[in-house]
Formats: sequence, C-alpha cells, structure tokens
Amino acid sequence: MEFKNTSEFAKSLDAKDKLAAYKNEFIFPVINQKEVIYFTGNSLGLQPKRSQKFVNDVMNDWGGLAVEGHFKAEKPWWDYHERLAAPLAKVVGAKPEEVTVMNTLTVNLHLLMVSFYRPTKKRYKIICEEKAFPSDQYMLASQARFHGFDPKDVIVEVKKRAGEHSWRTEDVVKTIEEVGDELALVLIGGVNYYNGQVFDMQKITEAGKKQGAFVGWDLAHAAGNIKLELHNWNVDFAAWCSYKYMNSGPGNASGIYVNEQYLGRKDIPRFEGWWGTKKETRFLMEPEFDPMSNAEAWQISNAPVMAMAPYLASLSLFDEVDMDALIDKSKLLTAYLEFILEAIDAELGTSNTFEIITPKDRGCQLSVFLHGQGKALFDYLMENGVITDWREPNVIRLAPTPFYNSFEEMYRFGQILKQGILGN
Ligand SMILES: *Cc1c(COP(=O)(O)O)cnc(C)c1O
Repeated sequence: MEFKNTSEFAKSLDAKDKLAAYKNEFIFPVINQKEVIYFTGNSLGLQPKRSQKFVNDVMNDWGGLAVEGHFKAEKPWWDYHERLAAPLAKVVGAKPEEVTVMNTLTVNLHLLMVSFYRPTKKRYKIICEEKAFPSDQYMLASQARFHGFDPKDVIVEVKKRAGEHSWRTEDVVKTIEEVGDELALVLIGGVNYYNGQVFDMQKITEAGKKQGAFVGWDLAHAAGNIKLELHNWNVDFAAWCSYKYMNSGPGNASGIYVNEQYLGRKDIPRFEGWWGTKKETRFLMEPEFDPMSNAEAWQISNAPVMAMAPYLASLSLFDEVDMDALIDKSKLLTAYLEFILEAIDAELGTSNTFEIITPKDRGCQLSVFLHGQGKALFDYLMENGVITDWREPNVIRLAPTPFYNSFEEMYRFGQILKQGILGN
C-alpha cells in the first residue's frame, strides 16, 4: 500500500479499520482538555471501561456475601483464576492447561527457575541478551549466587555487533553452541524492551534444547503484542506481566506458561503451596502434595481475586477481537507510523534528525534515537498531549497499539513532532 502523510489519507485508513470502534472501550488521560495520543501501551496499557464492572462485581460480592463469596459469588472466588486460562492461552499460543495467572512477573520467573534452573558442576551456565531488562539481570545474578556460583561464571550475554542496534539470531545460536554442554538455561526477553526487537523464539528454543538446556522466555513486551506459539515452538516455560499490552492495570498479576510435558509430575522441583495441590482433595487438608495436572501446580497461594478481575475484563476484549486481527492492524499502524517518521525526517531536510533503531522483526513498538533534540522534545510532546516514553541516553519509544490507537493519531503526531523539532 502506498501511504500518504495527509489527514485525509489517515482518516481513510481509520474508515477501513475493523477494530476502530474498540478505541471507545478504553479510558484516555486528558491534557489541556483533550484526550491524549497514547504511545505507552508498552509500559502501562489503558484502562478498559469494562474492567470497572468486573472489579465492582467482586467488591459487591465481598460486601454482600463475605466468606460465602468463595463458593456463592456469581463468579466464585475459589476457582476465579480458572476463567483466565483459556482466553490467555489463545493470546500466547498454548493449551489452556499450560497457562495460569499468579503473583507478578519477576516473582514468577524466580519460581519457574526453581523448576528449570537446576545447575550442576558441569552444566550451570545461563544465556541471556546483553542489557536485559534490569529486573531480569538482578534475578539471574541472584539465582546464580543462590546456587553458590559467581554470576560472572554463570551468565553469558549475547552481544550486539559493534555499530548495530539489534541482535542477530545467528549470534544467539552460535553462543548457544559454544556454551554447549555447560548450558543449563536460555532465558531472554522475547521482545526487547529497549529496541522493540522480536527474537526468533522458535529457532533459539530449538538451538537451546538441542544442547540439552531448558529454554524460557520473558514475554513482558510480547504478550498481547505479537504472534506467539509457545506450545508449537516447544518452549519449556514463559512468564509475562499483564499491565503492558494486556491492559490489566498497574503492577497486576502475571501469566505463566509451562509446557505440557512437565504437567502433573511430582518429580519436578517446585516451591509448593495449597493452591497447587489437586482441587478435588485440597480441602481435606492432607499433608501430601498432589500437584494439579495443569500449570496451576505452580500456584502457591489462593488467587488475588481483586487483581484477577480487571485481567479477566481485558481478556474478554482479546477474546472478542483475537490476536490475528490485532496483529494485522498492528502491522499496518506501525508501518504507517514508520512512514510518517521518515516523511517528517525527509521534510525537515536535516539528515540524522532521528533514526528508528527498531529492526523489521518487531511488534508495534518503534524506538527512535534522537540525534539532536533530546529530552526537550520529549517534554514538548507531553505538553502537547502526546504521551511517549523516554529512555537514556536519547531514545523515545513509541508503541501504537491496535486496540486504541488510530491512523489519524499517527498523522497528528507527525505534525506535532515537526513543530517540536522546528521550535526547539
Ligand atoms: C516490564 C518488565 C518487567 C517487570 O517486572 P515486574 O516483576 O512486573 O515488575 C520484567 N522484565 C521485563 C523484560 C519487562 O519488560
């Protein structure tokens, strides 16, 4: 399709957009009496209007039924979390039994490492990407120390090549082969938070497993953003937060995936609690732990229902729309934003005004490296009703999300950006 940097053209794309009406399902912040152009769905997704009802329902049941709500609420609390598994499994390409919701992301990665990082004297190394999200770096280093190792001996970072902005799959695979039978675990962010790159999860998973290692993925920036096929890719485990593209609210509960080959087993080390034991016998309060035959075996505590409610609300939107339709729009919207950025750069004439550092293997995020303007431009955008995200040293991240961003906003953003650069 040939794009044009005009308001009419952008509106014509909106007119053809089958998901356009979903914008009305979300609540937008207002700056200077106008709804913002929101580019930070990769950091905190907007609030779906319907989530308030889901939360209120739980509040009302709690008020009206108190402890009886566990079994008598309209959506009983004792198995409330079960409702999330099927729609969430569709989002990440898994079987419903491979997925559950519990705790928060870094906590879940730690818990999954209890099962899937079992270092021995010979096989103890972990491969991750250089400059992984800080929480992941701290997690991996603390796990290495917990097992009595020096993180420097354990963690092997795959580096980008000098002068390049993204990782090459061949370099990841080569590192995996080099570490070989010393490799215990590969754990990488499936979509990099900084440059927006999508790793070739299928190839990397295959390469890691060929060396006899476990392979897991941190899908914080992937869930709800890109096409995932965790089951078909034979991924061992994964976890993701729900407050970025999944729109479930600040700091909200995390999803996990565990491959079906590990389900229903008692021989896998795990930190266990009563919500992981078989629900049929749970309330007999027996001393023996009998794991649930699905990913819920990794659940420890009874589910935080107040956190599940907005996640369930958000999943009902994903279920209506389905990932393929979201991804189709996402690709077009992001391509249009890229076109607008390039058009503005060309119009301004000063080459090197800014540079998109996100590779073509991407979700909806474009990371833009600013060569001139820096933080002042970010502040200008905010004052003019565009919420973006600033990362040191000089990067603005823009994530047009297919649920609630329009093509017309991409055009309008381009005009505001141009003014911001000319005026700064
Ligand atoms: C957002 C993000 C996190 C956040 O972890 P929490 O435990 O939810 O605070 C972790 N890892 C990655 C890669 C992220 O993008």
